[in-house]
Amino acid sequence: MNDSITLGRIAGVPVGINWTWLLVFGLITWSLAAQIFPETNPELATGAHIAMAVIATLLFFASLLAHELGHAVQAKRDGMVIEGITLWLFGGVAKFRGAFPSAWAELRIALAGPAVSALLGAGFLALAWLAPLPAAVEAVAWWLGSINVTLLLFNLLPALPLDGGRVLRSLLWGIRGDFAWATRIAATAGRGFGILLIGGGLAMFALWGAFGGVWLAVIGWFLLQAAGAEARAGRTDARLGGLRVRDLMDPHPPAMPADTGVGRLMDAVVWPERHRGYVVLDPSGAPVGLVTPAALRAVPRERWPLVSVGELMTPAADLVLAHPDERAADGLRRAAARDEDLALVVEDGRPVGVLSVSDAVRVLDTLHPDQDARPRR
Ligand SMILES: [Zn+2]
Repeated sequence: MNDSITLGRIAGVPVGINWTWLLVFGLITWSLAAQIFPETNPELATGAHIAMAVIATLLFFASLLAHELGHAVQAKRDGMVIEGITLWLFGGVAKFRGAFPSAWAELRIALAGPAVSALLGAGFLALAWLAPLPAAVEAVAWWLGSINVTLLLFNLLPALPLDGGRVLRSLLWGIRGDFAWATRIAATAGRGFGILLIGGGLAMFALWGAFGGVWLAVIGWFLLQAAGAEARAGRTDARLGGLRVRDLMDPHPPAMPADTGVGRLMDAVVWPERHRGYVVLDPSGAPVGLVTPAALRAVPRERWPLVSVGELMTPAADLVLAHPDERAADGLRRAAARDEDLALVVEDGRPVGVLSVSDAVRVLDTLHPDQDARPRR
């Protein structure tokens, strides 16, 4: 999900599209122009069908965006920070920072998107039915209304990570007060629906040669994967419980000026004591970057005298930053989204630690050795 193109900001929320969406854009436009609109409006010319298809696809794209903005606006009202919205293969994803403040906040946020889709679907259908429109406009409005309603119904299946699954999770969480249990149930439902879609889709293809069945199976497979990821995230959250970044970070990462040679770093620091990251400082002692073991490994031994840590470091602007007092679950989630798997922990402008995902996993394994840490096969 990292290969996304940033489109800009809407209502202060960064919006991007994943490259997979370009594929979907092409597929939808093609199937509308070549199949659907020639069927609904055989009297119109091919050029008109293509124009209708492009406009319908663009408005469909806008509907998905509006759905995600519905989630984002409600999340803001409930005091959450939104990192951004990305449109990808199967719709949109709004990314939030941190945990939901309460079950009822999650419920409101989960329902806000489908509410927007319901309004849009009903609006387009009403337009197609009631207003005296040119045939081309009516067909576009009709398609937009039905696609919004179809997606709304699918999205309301009580299966994580779909919105219906979030509704189910928040209700269970609110009733019993146990987030981990609620996540487990809703994620299990997600897996179940994923398997049903795969089985049903393949059966449709095998029995009737319906190509739509393959599409359903692919969606089911994504649902299965995503539900598994939700279940794992829920387990990690439960195990991290009240831990803070401070509890899991390396509190004594070596720090050095940017002109330190790689040879010196290896001899003085890396050989005697291994760390996940080496902090690079400017003359005032503020952190300017982090050197990772992977970056060090990439330098052949004969080049050590020629390279300084300043040339090797990942600059602070490209690093995930964390605060020692924030929830460990939040810092780790941000760090895990990057290749380095690291966060630089900074307090009052000074580096105070390095948070590493793999170290944290090891610490957790020693703290809770008997809990199920890995996805079951
Ligand atoms: Zn949604």
